Amino acid sequence: MLGTEYDDFFRAVSEDAAVKAAFLSPRVSEKEFFEGFSKIREKIPFCDNGYIIDCDLPGKNPMHHAGAFYVQDPSAMATVHAAPVKSGAKILDVCAAPGGKSVQLSFKAGDGGLLISNEVDKKRVRALLSNVERMGLKNTIVTSLETDKLGKMYRGYFDVVLVDAPCSGEGMFRKYDVALGDWSEKKVVSCAALQRKILSDVCETVANDGLLIYSTCTFSEEENENCVKDFLSSHPDFSPVEVNRALLPYTHDGNGGMSFCRRFYPHIYPGEGQFFCAVSYTHLTLPTKA
Ligand code: SAM
Repeated sequence: MLGTEYDDFFRAVSEDAAVKAAFLSPRVSEKEFFEGFSKIREKIPFCDNGYIIDCDLPGKNPMHHAGAFYVQDPSAMATVHAAPVKSGAKILDVCAAPGGKSVQLSFKAGDGGLLISNEVDKKRVRALLSNVERMGLKNTIVTSLETDKLGKMYRGYFDVVLVDAPCSGEGMFRKYDVALGDWSEKKVVSCAALQRKILSDVCETVANDGLLIYSTCTFSEEENENCVKDFLSSHPDFSPVEVNRALLPYTHDGNGGMSFCRRFYPHIYPGEGQFFCAVSYTHLTLPTKA
């Protein structure tokens, strides 16, 4: 896929997971963050409240316990900046634990908005709950439902639906040894099938003119561009949305000329692998027979 860039990519993924990064709660000013947490290296250019930090154990900082910041990889931060999420929006995060993207979405929705943060795995939902509490999210309800139930319960309700899908985790190999140990071609195939099912289960929850954001932390085309292509061809009411332009210099176009899909690579910007895109829903009125 990468052609002449492959050597740079291989060098980057052979290094230790390079960066630690965090985004700020709106309850904390940049000044307070600088004063209470002195190890900031740089601002993340595509994320208005994100920073690369120099700190081995940011989770031990009292400001972390107080919910002043959330530790998250820059590539994961990019996903929720892919498309505009308005204040006051009604949002569904379908695969939410441990909760980094939910926390960001809750901040974007603000006090007048609503976030349903859903995680099907009963063990992982505990970590999600604890992060929702720690970050003080008042506009958020945590649920633990299968995706087919979500589809039936919330038909046409949400302005924004995020599917940060379970995937084969190829973008996480250098960060988590377990991701490498778990990988197999069979896993790619089974994840690709599950991703298609999740998208088709929850797409009906998107309101007219609403957005569906899809992301994975893997590189395989089958789980990324091909999944999106299959979804669009079987759901003609959805169409691609151009990505936030601030992300363009830090991501590659999706394969096969799908430039509304973005690929985040560790040799382009510090962080792990990620894929994301947004599509919008417009109810099509079928022509009536003459
Ligand atoms: N969005 C999360 C965040 O930012 O912290 C990370 C989500 S992780 C990539 C994918 C999640 O999908 C996992 O928490 C996993 O438990 C969940 N999942 C696994 N199987 C699922 C299924 N069949 N339906 C819905 N979610 C599933």
